[in-house]
Amino acid sequence: MNNFVGLSKIGLVRQRNEDRFFIDGNVCAVTDGMGGYSGGEIASTYAVDEIREYLASLEPVGQQDLCDAIIHANQRIVNRVASEERLAGMGTTAVVTAIKDNQLYWASVGDSRLYIYRDGLLRQITTDHSMVQELLTAGEITKDEMLSHPQRNLLTRAVGVDEVLEVDSGIESILPGDRILLCTDGLSGYVTDDVIASALQSSDDNMMVVESLMDTVYEVGAGDNVTIVVGTI
Ligand code: CA
Repeated sequence: MNNFVGLSKIGLVRQRNEDRFFIDGNVCAVTDGMGGYSGGEIASTYAVDEIREYLASLEPVGQQDLCDAIIHANQRIVNRVASEERLAGMGTTAVVTAIKDNQLYWASVGDSRLYIYRDGLLRQITTDHSMVQELLTAGEITKDEMLSHPQRNLLTRAVGVDEVLEVDSGIESILPGDRILLCTDGLSGYVTDDVIASALQSSDDNMMVVESLMDTVYEVGAGDNVTIVVGTI
């Protein structure tokens, strides 16, 4: 999995980049922080650091390990907020993946996403924990309408907000040639899945795909920070 590449860039209307990511051997993660002062940055940095450290000593890394790593990060952030009142309300998304043989393990909280691209088809694996996702599930809006909804930034679940945290997780079978994409809503909240699929279709060079998607987001105004990680199995 050492062909995984990633980029994180500050949005055009943002003061600071609250997104973080890491790629560490077979494991990668993307986080997107929220909160006043520097809370968003602190939460997302805590999350990547704690998740990375937690998983670094495990071999192999399994599905439950990914959940445990997020729970561990959650507790660290909750503890930090308890000791510094002005950070109240900070939190972060986290999507984490680990590859072993022909399986992809994943865990997720929030609205950062995991996609798998195979044979020209892009599949969203994670389900957003957001207000607009609930409206989509209820059939009240379409997937494209999620992109322009005024409440599209409201999360229904985040890491670091509460002692108790439910983590989504799963296992996907993967084949050689499959492409894996992780991103924050700075990408998925501004372009459609078709745009992401076209970028993957247009090049086998993952860095070119990341850069081309970045260019697209900036062309439409980059209203949020953008983080994209892409790899080929
Ligand atoms: Ca974001």
